[in-house]
Amino acid sequence: MTPEEASAMTEASEQPAPDPRVPAERAPRTQTAGAAVPSSVDVHVHAPVEVERAARSVTLEGLHAYYGSTHAVKNVDLAFGANQTTAIIGPSGCGKSTMVRCINRMHEEIPGARAEGKILLDDLDVNGPVDVVAVRRTIGMVFQKPNPFPTMSIRDNVAAGLKLTGVKTKDLNERVERALRGAGLWDEVKDRLGSPGIGLSGGQQQRLCIARTMAVEPDVILMDEPCSALDPIATLKVEELIDEIKKRVTVVIVTHNMQQAARVADQTAFMLSGELVEVGPTEKIFTNPDDERTEQYVTGKFG
Ligand code: ADP
Repeated sequence: MTPEEASAMTEASEQPAPDPRVPAERAPRTQTAGAAVPSSVDVHVHAPVEVERAARSVTLEGLHAYYGSTHAVKNVDLAFGANQTTAIIGPSGCGKSTMVRCINRMHEEIPGARAEGKILLDDLDVNGPVDVVAVRRTIGMVFQKPNPFPTMSIRDNVAAGLKLTGVKTKDLNERVERALRGAGLWDEVKDRLGSPGIGLSGGQQQRLCIARTMAVEPDVILMDEPCSALDPIATLKVEELIDEIKKRVTVVIVTHNMQQAARVADQTAFMLSGELVEVGPTEKIFTNPDDERTEQYVTGKFG
């Protein structure tokens, strides 16, 4: 079983567990994401985010990750702002996926793999002795390949996590509809909710997986190259969705597509050989980075 399948099955099969959240105010607030950008570059200028639900920040402090003796992530300090989108870029094998999988404790599912350092969800270190199932519910994940539960209908795919969190049967339909509307999928599937989720197109399946993840109201969503298996139109829809969901969650997206990072991310982090080289506002990383290696990478000189 792949780590993706293991995670999805964990979500579907484990018993409800205590929520690792620390008390947090959930009053709506407004904040500004992104700053002005030089007009010569193709970096999306984000409108101020109308936050609908205050999400959590994630802060990595001294994060190291290993596969046996392979040191894949080296001493990373990185903060992901609440209700912001952070893109992780860097050449293949630089540790992007590994770092992201540490955040919801999936990395340790691989035999011989371990992570050290702090992973703070607001102030709570989720790399300590916390309930891992609850962590994964609070920090959801969307994978490269859409992975709807293959035997379940569209409705049941979205309802699966909700049932485990104790949502009453009479409320399920409303919650399923809300999640599908939130994923921009409702109008496309409302007449076939009982049909198999895997009967949808690839792009629809990916939005179904986002709806499934969003349904349990996580604070953070990790996306590991969520569009790399999708065509350009489906990619655009997912990118629009990312702008929408950050009103309610903190988004971390691994992407090998620099244009995608430029389009969706408020801040961008560049990794190389397991290290974080540089992080900053997306337009700065793409137009005026501090580190020469970042400049070489974003201008296509390597990677
Ligand atoms: P990226 O996401 O940037 O392509 P990864 O996080 O997948 O990079 O990989 C980082 C390093 O960890 C690479 O050297 C890779 O070979 C190694 N690695 C990734 N997955 C495994 C694994 N399951 N077992 C052993 N080494 C791995």
